[in-house]
Amino acid sequence: MKCFYHQEIDAVGLCKSCSKGICPECAIDVGGGLACKETCIEAVQSLNALISGNTSKVAQRLRASYFWPAFLMVLGILFIAAPIISGKPPMAYSTISGLAFTGFGVLLAAYQRAFNKAYRRSAQSGSQGGRPPRPPHHLACGSALGGSGRMVK
Ligand SMILES: [Zn+2]
Ligand SMILES: [Zn+2]
Repeated sequence: MKCFYHQEIDAVGLCKSCSKGICPECAIDVGGGLACKETCIEAVQSLNALISGNTSKVAQRLRASYFWPAFLMVLGILFIAAPIISGKPPMAYSTISGLAFTGFGVLLAAYQRAFNKAYRRSAQSGSQGGRPPRPPHHLACGSALGGSGRMVK
């Protein structure tokens, strides 16, 4: 296969965006694929940013959601441990509120875990059902070529 832009040079790969054969001179590595340096680099980069942005945003949300449970647990442990550290006799209310904080934190963490599991499952099934794993241009080719054959009975 030859480069789409240089008919005399062998292609080293396919553009991730337009699927044309491209030579080392025309290709640019965009991370996980090649793109036409001139025409497709922006399209592929924005595509990659969209994908990685989505996943990192979800991961961030999942991580951030453990902040409050952890905060409550630490607060609770501090309440319980403070009298021990300072050497004073533990006061009933600080121990009780400490236990309450810790218990609430554990409950919140357990709730968050269940929520995250359900969220991941729904996100997975959603992406499997809604978005085909094939890139859009393959899909367009497939529906144009094979689709018409299948449609007409
Ligand atoms: Zn391209
Ligand atoms: Zn080329």
